[in-house]
Amino acid sequence: MTREFLRQFTFNHCLITLRLSSTNYINTVSEDVFCLFRKLRIEIHLMMIAMKTFYLVVVCILFVHHLFAKIKNGYEARLEDSRASLQALNLLSLEDKRISPLARLQLKTKMASLIDYISFYELTEEFIRQFKILAPVMFTELDNIKDKRGRYTDIYLRLVPVEKSRIPLSAASFFQTMKDDEDANVSHYGPFSVSVDIIIVQNALFLLSHELGHIKYIVPNIAEYSKFYNWRYSRSKSHDSMGHSPNDLSGKESHIFERRFLEEQKTYFEHGGKKPMSLFPLLAQIRKNTKNRESDYPLLFASNDTR
Ligand SMILES: [Zn+2]
Repeated sequence: MTREFLRQFTFNHCLITLRLSSTNYINTVSEDVFCLFRKLRIEIHLMMIAMKTFYLVVVCILFVHHLFAKIKNGYEARLEDSRASLQALNLLSLEDKRISPLARLQLKTKMASLIDYISFYELTEEFIRQFKILAPVMFTELDNIKDKRGRYTDIYLRLVPVEKSRIPLSAASFFQTMKDDEDANVSHYGPFSVSVDIIIVQNALFLLSHELGHIKYIVPNIAEYSKFYNWRYSRSKSHDSMGHSPNDLSGKESHIFERRFLEEQKTYFEHGGKKPMSLFPLLAQIRKNTKNRESDYPLLFASNDTR
C-alpha cells in the first residue's frame, strides 16, 4: 500500500467521522452548553479511539498481506463470477425455448468465452502444481520473495494461448515501481505484486524457471533495475534483447534459474517422479470437464504425476 493510498484512505475515514459528528451535534443542540461540550469531548475522544483502531486495522491488513504473499493464479479474480455466469447461462439455454436464433448464438459465444476463462484458470492451477512438484526448492524460494524493504511480493501467473499474449514472446514478466515508493513492485493485480504470462507451449515449465530468475533479481532491486532498464533498452526496437544485454544481472539470473530447474527436475526423475501431463491434452480434458460440468466445482481431473 502506498503512502499516498494511506493518506487518501485516512482522509476518507476522517470525512465519515466528521459527518457522524455533525449528525450527533444536531441531536444535542437543545441541551445546555455544558452538556454539549461534554458530549463533544466524548465524541472527540471516541473519534481518536476510532482513528487509532483504524490505523491498527490498516497495519493488521498490511501485516496479514505480508504473511500470505504467494505465487498466485492470475485468473483468480474473475473465477467465481465466471463460474456463476456460466451456470446461469447454461440454465437459460436449456430452459428457455423461446430464445431467438441470434440471441442463442450470442449466448453460445458468451458461454464459450467463459469456458475459456475457467479452463485457463484450471490449466494455470495445474501448471503451478506441476512446477511445485518438479522444482520444490525454487518454488518455495519464489513463493516467499520479498522486495528491498522486506515486504513479501506476490507473483501472478497466467498460462495464455498465443493469440491472447500481450507481447510477441513465449514468456514475459511485467514490473513497475510503485508511485512514491521506488522499492515496491506494483502490477495491475495491485500493490506488492508482479505478473508473468507464459504461452501454452510444451516447454512452459522451463520458460517459467527463466522468468522466475528475472523476478528473483528484479523484485528486490526494482529501483536500480528500472534506471538501468531505461538507460539500456529505451531505444531498443526489439523485445528479444530486453533483459539480456551482456551486463544485465536479471538476464544472468534467468539463466542460472534455467540450470537450477534442470537440476531439480533431474533429481525429481531420479527419485521416481513421473512426467507431468502435457499442457495440450490437459487443456482439452479441462475444457471438456468445464463444458459438461453442472454444479460440482471444482472437479478434479486426471494427471499422471504424483504429488
Ligand atoms: Zn529473459
